[in-house]
Amino acid sequence: MRTLENFTTIEQMETVTAKLKEMATFVHAETWQDRAKNQTPHCKFGEDGICCKNCSMGPCRITAKASRGVCGADAHAIAGRNYLRTIAAGTSAHSDHAREILHVLHSASRDGNYQVRDEQKLIKLAKEWGVAVDGRDIYDVAHEVAEVGLAEFGKSFGTLRFISRATPERQKVWKEQDIEPRAIDREIATSMHMTNMGNSADAAALLHQGLRTSLSNGWGGSMLGTEITDILFGTPTVWNTEGNLGVLEKDYVNIVVHGHDPAFSEMVVTAGELKELIDYAKSKGAKGINLVGLCCTANEVAMRHGVRMAGNFLQQENVVLTGVVEMMCVDVQCIFPALSVLTECYHTKFVTSSPIARIPGSIYIEFKPETAFEQAKEIIKMAIDNFQNRDASKVYIPDTKQKATVGYPCEQIIKHLDGVANSHVDELGSYRPAIDAIKAGVLRGAVAIVGCNNPRVRADYSHFEIMKELLANDVLIVATGCAAQLATKAGLLQKEAKYLCGAGLRRVCELVDIPPILHMGACVDISRMMLLATGIAKDWGVDTTQIPVVGCAPEWMSEKAVSIANYVVSTGLDVYLGIEPQVKGSSQMMELITEGTRKITGAGYIINTDPHELVKSILDGLEKKRAGLGI
Ligand code: SF4
Ligand code: SF4
Repeated sequence: MRTLENFTTIEQMETVTAKLKEMATFVHAETWQDRAKNQTPHCKFGEDGICCKNCSMGPCRITAKASRGVCGADAHAIAGRNYLRTIAAGTSAHSDHAREILHVLHSASRDGNYQVRDEQKLIKLAKEWGVAVDGRDIYDVAHEVAEVGLAEFGKSFGTLRFISRATPERQKVWKEQDIEPRAIDREIATSMHMTNMGNSADAAALLHQGLRTSLSNGWGGSMLGTEITDILFGTPTVWNTEGNLGVLEKDYVNIVVHGHDPAFSEMVVTAGELKELIDYAKSKGAKGINLVGLCCTANEVAMRHGVRMAGNFLQQENVVLTGVVEMMCVDVQCIFPALSVLTECYHTKFVTSSPIARIPGSIYIEFKPETAFEQAKEIIKMAIDNFQNRDASKVYIPDTKQKATVGYPCEQIIKHLDGVANSHVDELGSYRPAIDAIKAGVLRGAVAIVGCNNPRVRADYSHFEIMKELLANDVLIVATGCAAQLATKAGLLQKEAKYLCGAGLRRVCELVDIPPILHMGACVDISRMMLLATGIAKDWGVDTTQIPVVGCAPEWMSEKAVSIANYVVSTGLDVYLGIEPQVKGSSQMMELITEGTRKITGAGYIINTDPHELVKSILDGLEKKRAGLGI
């Protein structure tokens, strides 16, 4: 039997980080630890959300002597406006990512760089949207589906198509509360308009628009991003892989793909498998090409190719500090501009590829669908040519890595549940076996642990503590983003992690043959979690807000996370946060995000910076949901 000693602890991860920090000192490089220290204490006005620079009469700050900005906006108006802008920004990031992927689908062709890999999913979506499929070429269908998807961004009338996937009760709530999302771009533009100088000063109205905008992400942009990515690159399946810095290899050309957009990373991964390039690497003295992922890109390529994962957000500099990375190539989101300065201290080439993320000091190769494969080959060749420039005196590869089983989208979860259903009695293709386990009390519920890591708190500690305690209490975890990466680094995505679970969850894992933490993908794939919760609720015959399923973001940092948290709340699921949202300077906003939303959506935030206290609240919350269902 394996115990916690067989996994990688936070202390062990910190020892590695400390050693890499020494390497940074050796090359006179600055890292996030230095910059976070220089920024501490953070600006209190910003922390509390009560500074406004939405016009040039400001910036205005709310203080003891100045309770209003020059225009008369008070703390509630300013905090509410800032919060709504944050949601709009997060929504724009996920949604613009989806728009790019839709354009890739629109350009896909049988003999082009991008093809349709999941025809079944395409046909299913086409039928859902009323796009004709019979007798048509699959690429004609794909192009029309892409056009219908792109219309979701700017249509003049109506609401988003995917909201019809929600439970009937949820759709009713959205309609009655007037938060049904309209066109995605419209919700973002309306948010920016409302927060413009001289417009909304009512915190409740600002939050209301925040909920609607977030829904245009979760049930719009993010869901489109996930669906179309599956159609183009295949719906993820279960893979055995590895994670943490030990996946870097001394004798190989190491290439790290970092960011979020699979249109880029998929091409680089495919090119990296070409024999001609592997032979070229060998001709340069390497044993081959070692391509690994970082952040959400790691999740995307791990669950479609089994590509190994180097780590999460706060590990992006650590990867370079190993001294063995020939190239860090990035697309969009969560990329430290600091990488260009840091890579100058090493031989590492830092390649940016998107007009959305231009970074001074990087090598910019704008990635285009028409030339994507040739560009990917060019990038890999550049990395290979750089192998000879490695400086042995700067090399330190930590030997930490763990095995991980990844790739559990809804389709895989159902497939595994079908494996334990009694086909003579039970309907296949449903979540009923999981519901039965919850009803029987073998599972107490499920928690979606998502989000980033954040220098404001001990990196990855809250993720780890919360995961351990939930598993021990028979709570199944689904994870995405950098939270899933922490689980990978720690070894918690192995099936052997069942030994950390309570007897009930362990039995479920053995029967269904799954790890107790199911890796569901990147941040954009939290839309999969919404469909999972919806599927469970529908099969149960209740609304999402009634089931013992909640969300938790212990170490979130991104604007995207605020948008996500709001669409999860709008979907009726409570969200437990380990980092305080920046609205503390407004008592009205604090009340609205923790209690006010409950009157609108039936769910809200529970905030506690102590992970152990947060777990207690989660367990308490799950038990209350169970009691509400009479189980
Ligand atoms: S909008 Fe009002 S509070 Fe904001 S900067 Fe302008 S005057 Fe100040
Ligand atoms: S979880 Fe957060 S830090 Fe990690 S990739 Fe997603 S948004 Fe970026």
